[in-house]
Amino acid sequence: MGAETELGPLVEETVLGIDIGGTRVKAGRVGRNGEVLENREIPTGSKRGRSALMEDLRVLGDSFLENQNVRAVGVGFAGLIDFGEGAILSSPNLPGWDGIPLQKELRDTWGCPVYLDNDANCAALGEAWRGAGEGHDSVVTVTLGTGIGVGIVLEGRVWRGVTGTAGEFGHISLDPLGPECSCGQKGCWEVFASATGLMAEAGRRCPDSSFSSAYEIYEAAGGGDQVACQLLEDLGRWVARGVRVICFSLDPSCVVIGGGVSGAWDFFSPFLMEELSSNSLGLGSRGVSVVRTELKKDAAVVGAAHGAWEVLESLGC
Ligand SMILES: [Zn+2]
Repeated sequence: MGAETELGPLVEETVLGIDIGGTRVKAGRVGRNGEVLENREIPTGSKRGRSALMEDLRVLGDSFLENQNVRAVGVGFAGLIDFGEGAILSSPNLPGWDGIPLQKELRDTWGCPVYLDNDANCAALGEAWRGAGEGHDSVVTVTLGTGIGVGIVLEGRVWRGVTGTAGEFGHISLDPLGPECSCGQKGCWEVFASATGLMAEAGRRCPDSSFSSAYEIYEAAGGGDQVACQLLEDLGRWVARGVRVICFSLDPSCVVIGGGVSGAWDFFSPFLMEELSSNSLGLGSRGVSVVRTELKKDAAVVGAAHGAWEVLESLGC
């Protein structure tokens, strides 16, 4: 039952969380307790350029802000962020955004407080607040998608590092003789454990394979296809090798695995757990909980909303 006044029912206060990724923009209106009340998504259309995307963002935001009590907006952006300045430092998947003061531009557009952070940090905040990491103080979220994004929440706060680039575990080389990575190194974690890496490995092992997407590999594994099952077993072991680096570096109590690849969790997670337990230091049995995302594609939306609520709090609203 909502409270009522003489003017009618009070509209619940909410914030808007937006996740700007390389291919999709997801937005959701989020309540005080992290519940997503309504959501929409649109294609990013990055090839059309920045001004077209800014216009799409404005229209998308307006569609939520017009008739609802939205107090602030939180944005997770797929790129390196200068958190203090509220600006994009670089964004390999979204050309044309380097140096753009996005936080100020959106604040001017909507006239409300805006929180801006990296999308991986937002996913970690979301999972720690209302997802698979809820109840844990120190949560690392690994998003396995086109690349690998890692967000770090330590003792309840996002850890960004001195220059804002903490968490680039995807570009730690795990095999100096491995396949070349887009960053110029060889054998980065990302070339083995992302959806892109999985597809590349499928192409190397069976050049005639009919897999046209990572999803098709999961489907084939579900149907008992031996090649697909072996690919996902190896993927699980590669995921574990990177998770082990994270655990040795940060010693969190929970690691959440999200992103599109987590759709194949049932096929790769037994090998992930087996590999984690296979070293003599006993990592995997020390109490770190390695779990699948609960928020799925809403993780960064919910985390961006969490940031928006925090901005409101800091302003005394
Ligand atoms: Zn790399």
